[in-house]
Amino acid sequence: MRVVVTGGAGYIGSVVAEELVAKGHEVVVFDNLQKGHRDAVVPEARLVVGDLADRERLRGALRGAEAVVHMAADSLVGESVQDPAKYFRTNVVLGLALLDAMREASIDKLVFSSTAAVYGDPKRQPIEETDETEPNNAYGETKLAFERALPWYARAYGLRAVSLRYFNAAGASERNGERHDPETHLVPIVLQAAAGARPDVTVFGDDYATPDGTCVRDYVHVVDLARAHVAALDALAAGGPSRAYNLGCGGAGYSVKQVLEVARAVTGRDISVKLGPRRAGDPAVLVASSARIARELGWAPTMQSLEAIVGSAWRWMQRRDLA
Ligand code: UDP
Repeated sequence: MRVVVTGGAGYIGSVVAEELVAKGHEVVVFDNLQKGHRDAVVPEARLVVGDLADRERLRGALRGAEAVVHMAADSLVGESVQDPAKYFRTNVVLGLALLDAMREASIDKLVFSSTAAVYGDPKRQPIEETDETEPNNAYGETKLAFERALPWYARAYGLRAVSLRYFNAAGASERNGERHDPETHLVPIVLQAAAGARPDVTVFGDDYATPDGTCVRDYVHVVDLARAHVAALDALAAGGPSRAYNLGCGGAGYSVKQVLEVARAVTGRDISVKLGPRRAGDPAVLVASSARIARELGWAPTMQSLEAIVGSAWRWMQRRDLA
């Protein structure tokens, strides 16, 4: 298939593009390079530098494509609480502009990168797709708003869409790892501290109702996430229905303190820690049940241990002389 990957120069998008190319798909990456990196795009893919607000460029990129993986977004929980207007515009308004352009181009298959943040502060763990969605930050709210448009577009226009609700992506492929500027995500921040690129790590709150008081998250390897996109596209190509799936490793998840411990063990370096206040919009625990995607698409994570995930990110940093 010819597949357009919006946001395909970003952290997760670049690994999705790699995985699609490896499976023999023709890939067009559409990315404005605001947060993405030109050199993250696998050479076999065609890069179109453009913004979702640029209708003409988007139209050009979509021409002849059979499916879209939509990953271009603003995705920082804290920022979304400070500046919701930015999030509603990028994630909802421009997302709907993409759906319009897809209709015009007669593209009826979409894989959408959604998030565990659609669940808010869940009443039970692990979270299932049928659990209540009640976002407690604007990021989750905008991702949910877009998801909720999809069944209506399916009914009226025949669009079929798989929404993948990522829990915490981490780790690196051979080629691509996480490099945001500024970095806000825990695993790269902890590894930067281990590498001496930052003085310490601030733990955002240790008074949560969790075993050690710090937030618990479900870390999933970025290559496993990318494999799920390929599986979702294959299912759509085979005529499969619109669906939403959680993507995590399940289990008990890992606390912020556990991530720090694993990072110390993996790197053999000391990491200094400061305690800070809670970050707005952070639920105490987010752990996925990925039973639905296992059952329906045969997806399961292959790299479940945090050691393997953090280790791949550390080795990627070392290969790039960042550690
Ligand atoms: N976190 C932290 N210090 C940091 C960055 C993150 O304590 O410098 C915590 C954050 O509060 C959350 C967890 O680490 O509980 C994972 O945060 P991240 O931003 O990596 O992902 P999110 O869960 O927001 O998608």
